[in-house]
Amino acid sequence: DPREKEGYVPLYSSFESFYTRNLYRVIRDCFNRPICSVPGAEITLKDRVSHDYGWTFQFTGTTTRCINMASYNYLGFAQNSGPCFEEARKSIHQWGIGMASSRNESGTLELHVELEKQVAQFVGKEDAITFGMGFATNALNMPGLVSKGCLIISDQCNHASLILGARLSGAAIQVFKHNDMVSLEEVLRNAIVQGQPRTHRPWKKILIVVEGIYSMEGSIVNLPRILELKKKYKTYVYLDEAHSIGAMGPRGRGVVDHFGLDPKDVDVMMGTFTKSFGSSGGYIAGSKELIDHLRTVSHAAMYATSMSPPVIQQIITSMKIIMGEDGTLEGQKRIRQLAFNARYFREKLKAMGLIVYGHKESPVVPVLLYMPGKIACIIREMTKEGVAVVGVGFPATPLIESRVRFCLSASHSKEMLDKVLEKIDVAADLLSMRYSRLHPYNK
Ligand code: PMP
Repeated sequence: DPREKEGYVPLYSSFESFYTRNLYRVIRDCFNRPICSVPGAEITLKDRVSHDYGWTFQFTGTTTRCINMASYNYLGFAQNSGPCFEEARKSIHQWGIGMASSRNESGTLELHVELEKQVAQFVGKEDAITFGMGFATNALNMPGLVSKGCLIISDQCNHASLILGARLSGAAIQVFKHNDMVSLEEVLRNAIVQGQPRTHRPWKKILIVVEGIYSMEGSIVNLPRILELKKKYKTYVYLDEAHSIGAMGPRGRGVVDHFGLDPKDVDVMMGTFTKSFGSSGGYIAGSKELIDHLRTVSHAAMYATSMSPPVIQQIITSMKIIMGEDGTLEGQKRIRQLAFNARYFREKLKAMGLIVYGHKESPVVPVLLYMPGKIACIIREMTKEGVAVVGVGFPATPLIESRVRFCLSASHSKEMLDKVLEKIDVAADLLSMRYSRLHPYNK
């Protein structure tokens, strides 16, 4: 900016220095490649001209068809055909697309009410409230729950929307080591002043904030222990199920279902519709009083336009399929297929000598590359071989824990997974990725 000479600090300075350093500039092709298909089991990427590293998007006119390991389409509902799509199409004919109003003004259709009842029933809570964006569900509702004088105890790997919500709330924030229950209890013990829990409790409310499945780690929250600690230290629990709702548990009802726990013990159950339901938006489910409170204080409910009808219809129909209310076993079939795919794929990767993070049943499968320089190499190599993947590095991971992430879907066939595995096996040699000491290669 020429005004810098006059002492101006460019408005874009912090963004520019952080995200557009040369490394990120020259690997933009790996992250900003528009797609021109449904993000289903396969995906079509538009090819960019090789010297186009900017935001201008110059295309060669050709495309690359890939097996899609890069979308959160866990149950395969991101489709442009089938019952969900047909119902969503009908809903456009009936109600249009935009609501042109917030929920509390004239933005509530019967469809919104139906969705909220269904979500509450699905997750096992009294009531639920829904929002047009998952990110805003966290960022704009946490300030309605806690404020100055309260304490948020947050997992080290919590999503950016939870961190933003925590900061916006004005509550004090303490962080515990990722999914480490000893570390969590230590924070709790220090927060409550040992021995005199009532009289020396310096916080109005204490909220433990965790996720069901962590999107960069593939780990599953230790919910049974967290609920024990919650009772012992008289705190509340806020659970973000963005990645676990639909994808975990024998009935697809998230980590509570996975562990066979009582949903009533989780005070705030948050989730998104962007992954397992192939749609958009987020929800918070809880007691009737809690949801009534959010309806009046949440900025996302009061000041944002309500969810679009086809988006709601897609959720209602896919959730009914998951619940078996369509009268078929399709939902069950997809849940089981996802679990099979996740286990199969993870085991095969481990057998290749790769370092694979996360729980054995998690559909999020991160493979460690460690070096940031390998991120672009693996993305380009896999894309060339017809496999779309996501590379993750700093600031989403520690600098030296760069990784490539595979997201499994019920819509992946065994042949597709085998083809992906074959391509990774080749890339693993090319990029020296077999770090596991258990692998014969390293003995
Ligand atoms: N919470 C978590 C844990 C997430 O991973 C994400 C995004 N992937 C969100 C919230 C935000 O949801 P959305 O993308 O639906 O806005």
